[in-house]
Amino acid sequence: IYGPSRRNSRGVNLNINSQYRPLMDEMATFMDREYHARPLLAFDVAEDAGARRDVLCPFDRRVRVGSVQWTSRDQASKAVDAAWAAFPRWDATPVAERAAIVSRLGDLMEEHLAELMTLCSREGGKLLTDGVDEIREAVDFCRYYAVRAEELFGSATRLPGPTGESNELMMGGKGVFAAISPWNFPIAIFCGQVVAAAVAGNPVLAKPAEQTSLAANRIIELLHEAGMPRDVVQLLPGDGPTVGSVLSGDPRITGVVFTGGTDTAQIINRALAAREGAPLPTLIAETGGMNAMIVDSTALPEQVVADVIQSAFQSAGQRCSALRVLYVQDVVADRVIEILKGAMDELHVGDPRHLGTDVGPVIDEDARRGLMAHIETLKGEGRLVAETRLDPTHTAQGTFVAPVAFEIDGIEALEREQFGPILHIVRYRASEIDGVIDSINGRGYGLTFGVHSRNQTFADEIAQKIRAGNVYINRNIIGAVVGVQPFGGQGLSGTGPKAGGPHYLLRFATEKTVTENT
Ligand code: NAD
Repeated sequence: IYGPSRRNSRGVNLNINSQYRPLMDEMATFMDREYHARPLLAFDVAEDAGARRDVLCPFDRRVRVGSVQWTSRDQASKAVDAAWAAFPRWDATPVAERAAIVSRLGDLMEEHLAELMTLCSREGGKLLTDGVDEIREAVDFCRYYAVRAEELFGSATRLPGPTGESNELMMGGKGVFAAISPWNFPIAIFCGQVVAAAVAGNPVLAKPAEQTSLAANRIIELLHEAGMPRDVVQLLPGDGPTVGSVLSGDPRITGVVFTGGTDTAQIINRALAAREGAPLPTLIAETGGMNAMIVDSTALPEQVVADVIQSAFQSAGQRCSALRVLYVQDVVADRVIEILKGAMDELHVGDPRHLGTDVGPVIDEDARRGLMAHIETLKGEGRLVAETRLDPTHTAQGTFVAPVAFEIDGIEALEREQFGPILHIVRYRASEIDGVIDSINGRGYGLTFGVHSRNQTFADEIAQKIRAGNVYINRNIIGAVVGVQPFGGQGLSGTGPKAGGPHYLLRFATEKTVTENT
């Protein structure tokens, strides 16, 4: 088995009352707490030194979860000064010490599971099951990268050479990294980026998504408690274009690790490239997708639908890996659609804190408005296949979008990624399969992809021809386990290397070859 071995994160089975009850009781103690996030920098920041923004709960907009004090341009620039000054010291810190801090964060997150799950739910609108998975993934990132860093950075690698010459390859940090993250995995992705960059010897300026700064703030507090120096990892909550542009425009930033939309990645790429006199930058970008699944006539319709429901609607479709376009062979399409309609009727949309809820809210009103505009357009064209009912008693106060499915002619009809519970269905004839593959590849994205078929040759051939980072056969297409399914896309979906994989840390490192005439 390839890759570092490490302790797995602790699981919680919410279906077992003896595990569920104590967790709920502990979460209840955090339900009414008001949080405040602010810049956590190498230097103290006055309470009133920046704009403030309220954080409202996505499933009940009347509830204020807390507030965020945004980082100013001047503070962001001074934070870069501190990170720049910290680099030589941090890079020279033994990797075992860096790894121990990162591992301790994993332990602390497990200790604070109930509080972090409450934040995921109240700030991010996450279901309980999604909250457990999210924190487990973050813990796994910490432990995996800690062990992997010790393997890679622990000692120099001896290389061959002629008699009288020694050759060694040494790994070190690259410099200051900006870590810019999205709201849909407010703890896992945020934490994964930060600890990977830091454990490799780089000071980090962490810029969380505007929508989920409270969770990020709590993680950085825990990281500092775990022993991370305050000038090595700093938190810069704030507006993307403002704080982000200070970071990506500063010539002292060696690299940006980014997860978010493809358009934003392109803005950052241009800003990095435009810097006068700056070293050539590293950009690690994990972006959006137009993820498809192909279902042929040999697939099991019931299994297909169960996997489609999860892939398209879990987390309200707000996963980069979520299924957007389902290609179904014409001879089974009516049967699959009929079962899908029945399954969508059974979905319960509402308060994510209830175990019986299948689909929670979307993140905010902007997101809801954008998704509704797309839905209205497709409804106007008369292509609705199925729609889950919204019960106003559970959804009136939040930003909910009912899961919905439409038929479309092909993936080309979609202008952009629709980041919510909207499934598009395309019927294809067996003779058209090559065209289907060309269409999917031709769209330029390449994140996740699925194939459902009991014909092994068909499934293998499709999996081989599709250009996507993560291919799933006869299962759902969401979820990637750290160290098991390294995750990330290609083309418009990302640069690689894959998060949670054995090569991820290499991109945060410099390699130095030392040759000595002995
Ligand atoms: P987004 O691109 O709007 O924002 C991501 C981050 O970029 C935020 O922190 C934001 O403040 C910042 N930002 C915005 N403008 C910026 C600028 N000009 N300069 C620097 N930073 C800037 O994305 P989002 O809405 O937060 O997240 C959803 C997107 O993320 C979807 O497209 C989804 O597919 C993608 N995503 C991809 C992965 C993956 O692993 N491939 C994982 C999760 C989410």
